[in-house]
Amino acid sequence: MLNSYIKTSSGEPLRVEILVRGTVQGVGFRPFIYRLASRFRITGSVLNGDQGVIIHAQAPEDRLDSFIRTIKSEAPPLARITSVETRPRSNLKPAWNLPEGRFIIQTTTSGGQARTTIPPDISLCADCAKEITNPADRRYRYPFTNCTNCGPRYTIVENIPYDRPKTSMKKFAMCKACRAEYQNPQNRRFHAQPNACPECGPHLSFHTAGGVQLPEKYPLAQVAAALAHGDIVAIKGLGGFHLAVDACSEKAIKRLRARKRRPDKPLAVMVADTATAATFSYLSAAETKLLNSPEHPIVLLQQKERLGPAPNIAPGIGEIGVMLPYTPLHHLLLAEPGCPQILVVTSGNISGEPICTSNEEALDKLQDIVDAFLLHNRDIVTRVDDSVLRVITNKQTILRRSRGYVPAGIEIQQNLPPLIACGAGLKNTFALARDTSIIPSQHIGDLDNAATYDFYLESIANLKKVYQLEPEIAVCDLHPDYPPSVYAAELNLPLYRVQHHHAHAAAVMAEHGIEEEVLAVVLDGTGLGMDNTIWGGEILKASLTGFERMAHLSHLRLPGGDIAAIQPWRMGLAALFASYGSCKKLPAIHHRIDQNAVTTITSMLEKGFNSPLTSSCGRLFDAVASLLGVRQHTSYEGQAAMELESLAQKAKTSSWIDDLLNISGSKNNPADFYLEEINGLWEIQTTGLIKMVVQRIEANQSPAQTALYFHTMLINSMVQLLQQLAETTGIRRIVLSGGCMQNSLLLEGLTASLTEKKLQVFTSNSLPANDGAISVGQAIIGGFQHVSGNSNESDSSSG
Ligand code: ZN
Ligand code: ZN
Ligand code: FE
Repeated sequence: MLNSYIKTSSGEPLRVEILVRGTVQGVGFRPFIYRLASRFRITGSVLNGDQGVIIHAQAPEDRLDSFIRTIKSEAPPLARITSVETRPRSNLKPAWNLPEGRFIIQTTTSGGQARTTIPPDISLCADCAKEITNPADRRYRYPFTNCTNCGPRYTIVENIPYDRPKTSMKKFAMCKACRAEYQNPQNRRFHAQPNACPECGPHLSFHTAGGVQLPEKYPLAQVAAALAHGDIVAIKGLGGFHLAVDACSEKAIKRLRARKRRPDKPLAVMVADTATAATFSYLSAAETKLLNSPEHPIVLLQQKERLGPAPNIAPGIGEIGVMLPYTPLHHLLLAEPGCPQILVVTSGNISGEPICTSNEEALDKLQDIVDAFLLHNRDIVTRVDDSVLRVITNKQTILRRSRGYVPAGIEIQQNLPPLIACGAGLKNTFALARDTSIIPSQHIGDLDNAATYDFYLESIANLKKVYQLEPEIAVCDLHPDYPPSVYAAELNLPLYRVQHHHAHAAAVMAEHGIEEEVLAVVLDGTGLGMDNTIWGGEILKASLTGFERMAHLSHLRLPGGDIAAIQPWRMGLAALFASYGSCKKLPAIHHRIDQNAVTTITSMLEKGFNSPLTSSCGRLFDAVASLLGVRQHTSYEGQAAMELESLAQKAKTSSWIDDLLNISGSKNNPADFYLEEINGLWEIQTTGLIKMVVQRIEANQSPAQTALYFHTMLINSMVQLLQQLAETTGIRRIVLSGGCMQNSLLLEGLTASLTEKKLQVFTSNSLPANDGAISVGQAIIGGFQHVSGNSNESDSSSG
């Protein structure tokens, strides 16, 4: 790259244009270039273009070389450079009219196609944190303080290039002091687009539940008092509203749960620092680092027994979601005297709907839930929830990818046509792609209600605008009735339909840049299979354009269809029926479920009436949770499986992995008992696993031990089978994906066992293992099928 420009005789200045692509706007890149230019005595200019940052530079060859090299090696911490391209320019104005050694920052040009990326929102930096707590500073206690190293980005951007007039900060004219900072290349706030101060920036206001504004000079004091009193307060944040209550008040949480109609789903908390988090949860070094990262996500931590938050914060679950304050507003609130030090901070929405963003929407929709509102007058342009992560085997796994991570893209090796991948029906994200970038959207949610579907459409329009991307092809799930599939078909573009679990596998492949075939273990909830049954416990031999099903969990019936996913007792009965030919009497189910219901389901199972077949791993977990008496009815997705894992965690000892490896290495591996080859397709016999569970229940073994042993045997049989498949196929790359991989016992156990068998394991780290990654998998499969003209999943068709 460096030798692509014209060489002149030694000592004579060279003139070049440098194009830097990637996340290079809104991250302090231009002042960085400015400082670099003065260090290497470069003459020229820098500006934000639509393709990236453009630098015009003139200097003798050696200095120019060093300058270009340093752009990559010393880039600002939040910048993500994807390429630095250099080409000779002989006609560069006005830079060449500058006096020798003069370097300027030019105002932005626009037009053409956008190729730069908008940075994600970044948590408050240490310098800004100092200012808001210093009584002598002009930003003392100012909740909208930010600089080039921190603050809102994606949530305030209306259009590109990223400049103040194209953000929701445009209505605030900077005061003299702020403008001086903004214009001074040596200042930390040079071209910080959301720059503001108490003089000229946004302000807070405190309102009753009815919306009446209360006079208060410093509303955060009133919020702190309300929270201490047990009130529910709606707080306008960065990407939407939160609902906050005192996390140590069982009564306040109970009111919140009742009003929000969210009986059991775990609630996340916010605490001032990791020291506070450590008083009620265990914290590893990796977890501490993640909590303090620029993204500041919610991190799931193992809770210490009965310490800190009230028990109804996460009923039946051993973990608790914790985050640190990421805006100055949060910092100041927690620092307010009397404010509860552990706050429930959960999405401000009506159950099932997207998070509220505008003041009007919140006042309208949340008035019956909250006791007061903390509003402000900076508009949220893009709705973005908090991200949720978990550390498993010292690596991060993402459960929900939103604030802090979006809209950063994923870079792949080959080019994709401009496309939209419409995503899954639940836990939806969609993705746009072009060239070598795939840009997944923020978490949208379950597209089963109108408000969330509107959010879906609004986000597609927004991301298309921000990236100036018009799709030429569309990709969706094989299931034609999912709302995203219906949307995709209506686009009138060449349409590619991708099998759900193939998409799960491909998302991990995309993340790790794998283009060769892999063996993919996809343990999941549900997805339509090629044979019209419901898949969800699959081993696929997968490439980026096709796949072959090698193995699956043997079928169970779903009595009543979809409803079986929220009523684990139905799966419990289905499991008993599949294993014993009748619904054998087990106290855990039969004592808790109405006998008439049992009779009805039994007769449905006998006749196979309205009871489709599934190989779903999620439903197998539901069945075992039911048999063990963990849960018969759920109020949120994944509840039974999460509680089963929490139960198993109680029996886990430090030697668990060793025990697992011993079993799988032994001569009489019980896993052989669970494997069966039927017409070249392997089945893992779920009935064997279920009989094992039932025998242990009848022998009065501890439910926690049985829950753990069930995990052990499932892992063990998977690994046993994978070893055989690796030998017959010669493929040693194993991809682990699907919603069940959020289970840390499964992921840990599979990773350790497979690694011990010298197989190479790939898991999702920067994308969710759940359906949030489906859109990325669809994008890469659909895009490659389009480019290669090769599709074994469906014929491409015009929708
Ligand atoms: Zn800052
Ligand atoms: Zn100001
Ligand atoms: Fe899935």
